[in-house]
Amino acid sequence: MKKENCMVFLDNASTTKPFKEVLVTMQQVNELQFFNPSALYGESVKMNTQLQQVKANLLKSLGATFFDNIIFTSGATEANNLALRGALKRNGKLVVSMGEHPSVYQTAKQLGLEGYEVVFVNLTENGTMDLNDLMEKLTGATMVSFMHVSNETGAIHDVKQIVQRIKAFNKNILVHVDGVQAFGKLPVNVASLGVDLYTVSSHKVHGPKGVGALYVKKGVNLKPILFGGEQESGLRAGTENVAGILGFEVAVQTLLPNIKTNYEKVNVLKQHLIAQVEEKVKQAVMLKLEPASPYICVVAVPNIKSETLLHLLEQKGFLVANGSACSSRNSDNRILANMGLPKNISTSSIRISFSEENTTNEVTQFLDSLWQVVSAHFNILRK
Ligand code: PMP
Repeated sequence: MKKENCMVFLDNASTTKPFKEVLVTMQQVNELQFFNPSALYGESVKMNTQLQQVKANLLKSLGATFFDNIIFTSGATEANNLALRGALKRNGKLVVSMGEHPSVYQTAKQLGLEGYEVVFVNLTENGTMDLNDLMEKLTGATMVSFMHVSNETGAIHDVKQIVQRIKAFNKNILVHVDGVQAFGKLPVNVASLGVDLYTVSSHKVHGPKGVGALYVKKGVNLKPILFGGEQESGLRAGTENVAGILGFEVAVQTLLPNIKTNYEKVNVLKQHLIAQVEEKVKQAVMLKLEPASPYICVVAVPNIKSETLLHLLEQKGFLVANGSACSSRNSDNRILANMGLPKNISTSSIRISFSEENTTNEVTQFLDSLWQVVSAHFNILRK
């Protein structure tokens, strides 16, 4: 425990440290307001009313209207499963970007095995969907799913423009966007983006783990994927994670007023990394994508495997990732490979992901440590 406290956490795309106020709220709810929101006595009715208020607040934070819906889930993985399985029509055709998180990519593959028509859209070298490929694959499509910000590379999709193109092709195609790495970091307005379904996750924005939400536009026909209860408009059976949802609410309300200042702060960190990394560490290559989120950066050191570099950096006190935590055991990176990056880059890349709590000093120390471990590694190899 002590050792972890000295660590510099540069893996904020995998999760974030909950805000203190979040923990205080959750403790209070668990102690004093632990009632089941579906029960009929006064305390439960109060809790149910509070949950409805949290939904209304989240709709507002997402730029949605009061007539739209929010379904609370156990996380973004479930929200993505619900979006795809719940909204895909019988005999439907699903179009999915190759850059998706496993919770969309693997669900789409599974739907393919179950007999649905599923096609994948390739990425450009910029990490976003190839729009020519997308347009070619839209014929017969009933649903498209892609992400707002890539959890692997930080690449940002121009969601509004893409949705306009899809709807101009066929206004009945449903559009689902995984907004996990965008919400709380970039301004998100689902009405202006024009999406039908939008996924968010609590633990990526300093809330607790095990809570996510699916925004559902009014009029979108969704079927449940879990049965056995009337909760969440009958779309997600099971007692709500009350303390988690209220903790998520605190995180959102704490973070959202600071989106702009946090973005600028994190952008300084990224620019510092970009300016220094290749100069300090001659063997390093930094992925420079435009537009990309400052929160997520990718650095590769060809000929040192991602996992090796990750552990060498851990020994120096820095926690980074070799891509998405949900596919960290794969030695190649599906997404970097699909972007056309050579294997010696895609197998040797690490992801550095910031939060507004990181500092320039930490980035400087990280660069020094990267230089040390890379130099030592190549010296050993040469001996
Ligand atoms: N989508 C994206 C883009 C993510 O980064 C993640 C988390 N790695 C998820 C979905 C899954 O989120 P959760 O952990 O809340 O299930």
